[in-house]
Amino acid sequence: MNKPIESLQENASGFFDKVYQKYSSQMKCSKGCSKCCMTDISIFEVEAQRIRDWFKILSVDQQKNLIENWTTPNPVGACHFLINDRCSIYEARPVICRTQGAPLFIKSENLLDYCPLNFESEDPDKADWLNLERLNTLLSFAAKTSGLEKRISLKKLKKEFLVN
Ligand code: SF4
Repeated sequence: MNKPIESLQENASGFFDKVYQKYSSQMKCSKGCSKCCMTDISIFEVEAQRIRDWFKILSVDQQKNLIENWTTPNPVGACHFLINDRCSIYEARPVICRTQGAPLFIKSENLLDYCPLNFESEDPDKADWLNLERLNTLLSFAAKTSGLEKRISLKKLKKEFLVN
């Protein structure tokens, strides 16, 4: 059975896929576009652990290859796991990364946010907005119930792989 964090990540990806299927002509998200990865985010330890666990089950060659890629400097301002405009931890990427580009609704501010390259002609239907605060509450809950609620930056997490 999936751990709560894995289910939440899968649900976030499922939401994105559903929106993308419906609005593919209005969304520019595609392989090679990394505009939403120009940042150094921090994540809960529960998601960091998911990345460590994912790394452990890769083949020795895959691990070596990743470590080699991670030692080369990445573009200034970019996420430390971004390699050649691709996410190098795609299968285990955090929840927030799985929703980028989709319509995110911040209810307390009555604000709808999405990539400026998407939905240029009109906002998507309200039924297709993701309540970001609810998602964050679920994420905090998954972190709390697992006892892994400290935060760690992706920069620091990558360093761990390089020294081990
Ligand atoms: S973890 Fe992957 S998807 Fe998330 S910001 Fe970094 S490169 Fe982009």
